[in-house]
Amino acid sequence: MKHNTKKYDYLIVGAGPFGATFAHEAALRGKRCLVIERRGHLGGNLYTHQENGINVHDYGAHIFHTDNKPVWDYVNQFTEFNGYINQVVANYKGDLYNLPFNMNTFYQMWGVKTPAEAQAKIAEQREAAGITGTPKNLEEQAISLIGTDIYEKLIKGYTEKQWGRKATELPSFIIRRLPTRFTFDNNYFNHRYQGVPVAGYTAIFDKMLDHDLIDVRLETDFFADKDTYLAEFPRIVYTGMIDQFFDYKFGELEYRSVRFESELLATNNAQGNAVINYTDAETPYTRVMEWRHFDQNGDDDVTILTREYPQDWDRQKEAYYPVNDEKNSTLFKQYRAEAKKYEKVIMGGRLGNYQYYDMDQVFHAALVAVKQEFKQ
Ligand code: UDP
Repeated sequence: MKHNTKKYDYLIVGAGPFGATFAHEAALRGKRCLVIERRGHLGGNLYTHQENGINVHDYGAHIFHTDNKPVWDYVNQFTEFNGYINQVVANYKGDLYNLPFNMNTFYQMWGVKTPAEAQAKIAEQREAAGITGTPKNLEEQAISLIGTDIYEKLIKGYTEKQWGRKATELPSFIIRRLPTRFTFDNNYFNHRYQGVPVAGYTAIFDKMLDHDLIDVRLETDFFADKDTYLAEFPRIVYTGMIDQFFDYKFGELEYRSVRFESELLATNNAQGNAVINYTDAETPYTRVMEWRHFDQNGDDDVTILTREYPQDWDRQKEAYYPVNDEKNSTLFKQYRAEAKKYEKVIMGGRLGNYQYYDMDQVFHAALVAVKQEFKQ
């Protein structure tokens, strides 16, 4: 045996939330696990590090939010959450608007003061745009929900730079991630439970994988020796890209990537909010995070700002977002059918399932997989 030197029961490929949850639960049931992770750290894209007392999210802002009480209780075993409520501000060519779309936004856009006035304005714009019936794409869905003015100023530019394609070529569900509400409520999410871990996300993974029956090997690439891993381990949990698992044999699934630029400034408050979105088409970044506002932590005299730039994905870059349009969904189904032939492999996570999952959905999916695997 080259890799399965300790008679491991499970090989877990990827130390993100799916893999870590599976490993933790398997170890609690007496199973021996080897976790291999291509990167030099745990947590997948949830990884955070501390700098000047500030928790910086290396792969973009992650706010935990869920309605799922069992999942909320589950993650609370590993961390305390700080009660942060995400309230995003949009900057469109120097004008500021509250997000998500709510009475504050409608007032700032049109001067309307009641829900009835806002609804009338939206209905008028929807009608003028000729939108009837089921929206066929993101643009139609957005105009149907909040009218053309908000679509033009707060959605079109942001969406097209974020996804690198026309809003008419994107599925409508993407914009339904954001609430539309007729109250003066700037909470970015509708969920009951929300927050950011007090000690950062990485601490969750340190705790989950701290078990005698779990070994972790960082900077270890499954694809450097895929066939040997497949031959040596009785069960494998794979959380990487499903198309890469099959060496892209049916073609590449499309992903969207992002890159980040950070700067340290000598002030403790540069932009007055954790996240400001730049919704015009010209600004090359989509949003700017000021990390200390996520948890009111940090040294007194410094702040860290991070700009998020969307970019095309290629095999040298990290895959962040699956592009769940029709073409890719069809291709994904082909890969998923192929995956069924590998009885010893369980695929999960955003990349393994090619789904635009939120964190809570990944923890939930992992717990479901655990239940299926162990029948308890
Ligand atoms: N979106 C937008 N304007 C904004 C924020 C979001 O048009 O100011 C759209 C955009 O298409 C984005 C989608 O809403 O991809 C989902 O936004 P969310 O904040 O959920 O994206 P994530 O945080 O996952 O990148």
